[in-house]
Amino acid sequence: MAASPSSGGGRHVCIVGAGIVGAATAYALARDGWQVSLVDAQPAPGLGESRANGAQLSYSYVEPLATPDALRALPGWLLSDDSPLRWRPRPEAAHLRWLAAFVAACRWREVHRTTAALLALSGLSRTTLHRWLAEQPGMAARCLHAQPGKLVLYRDAASRAAVERQIGFQRRLGCVQRIVDADECRALEPALGASAGAGGGDIAFGVWTADEEVIDTSLLAQALVEASGAARHFGAPAFAFEQRGGRIAALRLEGRTLEADAFVLAAGPACASLLQPLGWTPPIEPIRGYSVTLPVVNDAAAPRASVTDSARKLVYARLGPQLRIAGFAELCGADRRIDPRRIAALCDAVRATFPGACRFDDPQPWAGLRPATPGGRPLVGATRWPGLWLNAGHGALGLTLACGSAALIADEMSGRAKRIDDRPFTFAAQAA
Ligand SMILES: Cc1cc2nc3c(=O)[nH]c(=O)nc-3n(C[C@H](O)[C@H](O)[C@H](O)COP(=O)(O)OP(=O)(O)OC[C@H]3O[C@@H](n4cnc5c(N)ncnc54)[C@H](O)[C@@H]3O)c2cc1C
Repeated sequence: MAASPSSGGGRHVCIVGAGIVGAATAYALARDGWQVSLVDAQPAPGLGESRANGAQLSYSYVEPLATPDALRALPGWLLSDDSPLRWRPRPEAAHLRWLAAFVAACRWREVHRTTAALLALSGLSRTTLHRWLAEQPGMAARCLHAQPGKLVLYRDAASRAAVERQIGFQRRLGCVQRIVDADECRALEPALGASAGAGGGDIAFGVWTADEEVIDTSLLAQALVEASGAARHFGAPAFAFEQRGGRIAALRLEGRTLEADAFVLAAGPACASLLQPLGWTPPIEPIRGYSVTLPVVNDAAAPRASVTDSARKLVYARLGPQLRIAGFAELCGADRRIDPRRIAALCDAVRATFPGACRFDDPQPWAGLRPATPGGRPLVGATRWPGLWLNAGHGALGLTLACGSAALIADEMSGRAKRIDDRPFTFAAQAA
């Protein structure tokens, strides 16, 4: 690991959660001179909600889910059988509070403020990841990192005005994106026109962002944990924090406790189980999504660019010899069961859009829970319990934002607090 100012001064930090967010936090803090312990219920890093996600480092696509357009489309999505969204209402107070806050966040002023803040965080994330990959030779190749650009496809010409407005807004915030016609879509991603039946036929237009990237999230989490040199406590569920002398002083595991100078909770959608005993339920709703990873059998028929099908809300990423397709959003509690109809729909989308690209005899299906806050901002910063920091709630953008929020938290814990926009990403107030 590259030498860095030793702001941690050898103090001991214990991080709960070795998903992509906890792994990045471990690396950032170790780099800062902290002695790091990492605790996870799983036997290895990156096996929770980070395991087989869409693999997109989509730095320019951070608009939150809560928008006035989403609110208007909601009834149609909920009534349709093959809609990308499903919602199973639950009479739990935390779920109903989350829904109310989601609806309240669906205002353009709020959407623009959140988008601007998340673009600043994603920019920090990009430079941080690039710095880390440069200081760890071989890490980029090992984690299948690539910068193939991102092509978002629209099959409906009527949405062009809204897309132009969004791109104009983001241009003022530094994003370099352009609208391209159907022919240019097929030129940028030749697999869209590779065969007679290929799914590039009904494209109305697209948006091209040349500097978007992909990486295997689980491999990156493993690589960051290894490079951090953290002491690993894996296969070790954490049961509770212990308070002493007015601060969080220890973490209870099965049959033992871990003491540390500081704790970071990076447990994704599972943060509530450790915060509720302290008296706070964080506003994090699990939103289930699915992916399938398929072996590529015809290189020319499979996309190189990272492709988003905006109507179906699906993303395609090429990861070495494989193609991953991910999508769907289901509010159904902390239920990770795989609905085979969703997996079949993902495979059908690959067949229709990139015919002949993949083999389907050995698909790797996966379901994971996006840890989503109502307005789309992650919860990053000190809590009201001295000694405890939170780094969670990254929703659909955990991979994209992980390195940036790790850098933010390391700055704050090492006394170099940084604000990302007019509002800090610090949520001590909400925890009160
Ligand atoms: C279908 C799908 C596609 C996605 N695509 C993308 C994408 O393309 N780009 C992107 O940026 N994001 C994407 N995401 C979102 C991203 O996957 C998540 O935001 C991210 O993985 C969350 O990371 P995390 O580290 O917070 O949580 P996790 O990866 O779940 O890590 C939390 C860890 O904490 C551990 N843990 C929990 N409770 C305890 C406990 N009590 N004791 C010990 N350990 C505990 C868990 O075992 C887990 O390993 C996608 C998500 C889904 C579902």
